[in-house]
Amino acid sequence: LVSRKKKPDNTVIDVKGVKIGDGSQQFVFGPCSVESYEQVATVAAAVKEKGFRLLRGGAYKPRTSPYDFQGLGLEGLKILKRVADEYDMAVISEIVHPNDIETAVDYIDVIQIGARNMQNFELLKAAGAVNKPVLLKRGLSATIEEFINAAEYIMSQGNGQIILCERGIRTYEKATRNTLDISAVPILKQETHLPVMVDVTHSTGRRDLLLPTAKAALAIGADGVMAEVHPDPAVALSDNAQQMDLKQFDEFVNSLRASSFVH
Ligand code: PEP
Ligand code: MN
Repeated sequence: LVSRKKKPDNTVIDVKGVKIGDGSQQFVFGPCSVESYEQVATVAAAVKEKGFRLLRGGAYKPRTSPYDFQGLGLEGLKILKRVADEYDMAVISEIVHPNDIETAVDYIDVIQIGARNMQNFELLKAAGAVNKPVLLKRGLSATIEEFINAAEYIMSQGNGQIILCERGIRTYEKATRNTLDISAVPILKQETHLPVMVDVTHSTGRRDLLLPTAKAALAIGADGVMAEVHPDPAVALSDNAQQMDLKQFDEFVNSLRASSFVH
């Protein structure tokens, strides 16, 4: 169902009026984790001010260590909804349990399925059974074929509103947190009719690489870029090495616009 052979024209996903996959370039910004209303609202104000309407934030956090911050859960989704309503934005947030999907659709505009859950088939099926866009991230060690099959799981349940997201894969290279597989972007666009985004934050794990990788993603044909922004990354409860602060966010957007990568 996701194959371009089945459907030659691009699928365009409409997220509260923001069109992803129509040839425009869209951006998703926001903190790694939802920490408080004030934190999310501060970032939302900055993102909206720059003209963007897609806001991210994790409420259920799949952390490597069980002793790390696990997220605010439903409380986090409520904060996201409040901010989205106040700023007229759309929110994207990760759901990790199939039982939480039905509740989540009342609070968020896009269900994110994270890298660690790309082959959680019960979660994929649950996301496929609702009428809500899904942002599906590539698994840490998933081949492109496995990634496409994960999207097929969602679509086979009836939900065709899927955005694929390349977020780096695990290789032997240690200079970056993951290795951004930039060639996956045109391959996914050739093989499927779905929009493809690139998460520059988790693929690099390095603040200094966000801008060049974002440029590369857009130059190679990605439909959008995701990057994390936090009011004070030094005290962030997760991913404090790679989130941008508000000044860096401002420079990031200005640089992309100046190099005409963003229309
Ligand atoms: C995230 O986007 O918050 C996240 C945890 O990303 P990934 O699943 O790609 O590691
Ligand atoms: Mn993160």
